[in-house]
Amino acid sequence: MRIKLTSILLLLLSLGAYAEPNAIEKIKVWSYFDKQNSSLDSILNLTPSDWQTITSGVHHSHIGDANYWQGSKGAIVWLKIRIPSLIKDKQVWLELVPNVGLDGQMAYKNNGHWKWASPIGRNGEPLVSSPANFLSFEIATPAEDNIVYVKLNTSQIFHFGINFRNEADLHWSLLKSHLFNGLIFGFLTLAMIYNLAIGFSAGERMYLYYAFYVFSNTIYLAVISGYLRLIFPDWGGDGSLSNLMVLMAIFSATVFVREFLNTEQTTPVFDKVLYYQQGIFFTAILFIVFLSDFTAYFLAELLGLVGPFLLLVSGIVAYRAGHPMAKYFLIAWTLFLICAAIWGWMWLGIIEPRTWVLNLLKAGTIAEITLLTLVLGFRYSYLKKKTETLTEAKSRFKTLSETDELTGVLNRRGFLKQVESLLRKGNKELVWLALDIDHFKRFNDSYGHVAGDKLLNAFGSMLSTKGRREDLAARLISHDKDKPYRRGVAGRIGGEEFAVLLVDCSLPRARLYAERLLREFEKLRVKSMDGEMVGTTLSIGATQVGPGDTVEAAWKRADRLLYEAKHKGRNQVVMRE
Ligand code: GH3
Ligand code: MG
Ligand code: MG
Repeated sequence: MRIKLTSILLLLLSLGAYAEPNAIEKIKVWSYFDKQNSSLDSILNLTPSDWQTITSGVHHSHIGDANYWQGSKGAIVWLKIRIPSLIKDKQVWLELVPNVGLDGQMAYKNNGHWKWASPIGRNGEPLVSSPANFLSFEIATPAEDNIVYVKLNTSQIFHFGINFRNEADLHWSLLKSHLFNGLIFGFLTLAMIYNLAIGFSAGERMYLYYAFYVFSNTIYLAVISGYLRLIFPDWGGDGSLSNLMVLMAIFSATVFVREFLNTEQTTPVFDKVLYYQQGIFFTAILFIVFLSDFTAYFLAELLGLVGPFLLLVSGIVAYRAGHPMAKYFLIAWTLFLICAAIWGWMWLGIIEPRTWVLNLLKAGTIAEITLLTLVLGFRYSYLKKKTETLTEAKSRFKTLSETDELTGVLNRRGFLKQVESLLRKGNKELVWLALDIDHFKRFNDSYGHVAGDKLLNAFGSMLSTKGRREDLAARLISHDKDKPYRRGVAGRIGGEEFAVLLVDCSLPRARLYAERLLREFEKLRVKSMDGEMVGTTLSIGATQVGPGDTVEAAWKRADRLLYEAKHKGRNQVVMRE
């Protein structure tokens, strides 16, 4: 819920923050495309007809903007700017949008001489005193003649927007953009940490791939938001980092989508396409820094159009193939693609370069990542629940497979398993009891097989308390409250033969236990087929299990003692070390 609210807030912020105040006066901007890398003197000697007018409105606080689009590899463009005399501010700021691939210097007249000024961030001043998000120049007004010249180098920008800002406007716009960016980057970082944590704790590659995708997007957004220009001023004029991050974002998206939509299984044919796409992007990432600015820009634009489109197609194909996650991916990806397409059109010159386009891309990225993070989160909790149910079923099955149905005690397999584990643990005082119901054949013959079953069942209950098998008949053994004997295992070895292994129990104590069993069993009554209450007796052979004893040896000894008890007239315990 909180995430949903945040994204709605972000959307409103990005829509509302960029309504511009009304224009009150015109400013003038002219441009000159310089093929010869001219000096300022020759620029000053140009005739008015050499200049191309690119003027637009002047605003009260947001002083004005203009757009220029043209350029080529390493092009030099001169801007001649006349600041309106109306502006009474001591300083105004000239801001060039977007954030990468633009670099330059500004010339202004001071005491009759032309001087060069560097952009903010490179003029040696601390950034705090003259903050900027884009390539910006500070202009002291009134400049003589109100004219400044900007010599721009464009490494990949074919068009750009110009904003003029006064001090109040600059601070307000920076505050807005820092707040907006704070939310964006804070959220992206959280999404990254969240997915990394799941990826590592659950050992699921998909979440790690997704965290990598979020990371690449974060860096790309940081580059185009101008944060790297502030930290490393020289990178702003260079488009290579932005090209690299575009490729990285789409590469990581491809890797993630293949895993998320499980394309290898659901759409094997299309998976091949994505596999090659992955390879092409990986190769491009390795080599793009060696390409010329223009080629790199062209490649990044081309791959940046084709890659996301193919991912959209893969979503559609996976949806058709019935992948349950595909529809969520399609919604998120379409949302993102709409915003990214507008961003791409700006770079292609189809729409004007403005800050809202940049913010729209950020909003689209956030919307997409919010949705996918939610889906991944749900998927994780769903899988976790499913695993828990499976584990539970497995342990229930295990219990069932080791329990005797009729009596509720361990079956032969379960009993021997427990005994072996107890022997392995090296328990010192173990006593093995072999139990056999007396004249059970006769009992069956006289009272019916059903009554025999009832007796077996009742004896099972006597041996095992209702809950844990280990809480073996504690009530049978001793009323000594200080040292209640509570450990042991009981199992049904064969038809009417049982065995009990008492743990941490001395021989005299075991005798007490066995005697009580005999007495209790004697009293046990079940209904015969004729309706009378009938019972029989029990014989027990007991032997201590020493260290180094084997299961077979102990069992054999106990059986021999049991045989002795039968021989001596039944309904008794025969016990030896
Ligand atoms: P003894 O006192 O020497 O042990 O005599 P006995 O009759 O108990 O011994 P014997 O081993 O000859 O007979 C065991 C009988 O237990 C045979 C079989 O009918 C009966 N029996 C074995 N399993 C079951 C069962 O699951 N239900 C019932 N009702 N009887 C069973
Ligand atoms: Mg028997
Ligand atoms: Mg018997």
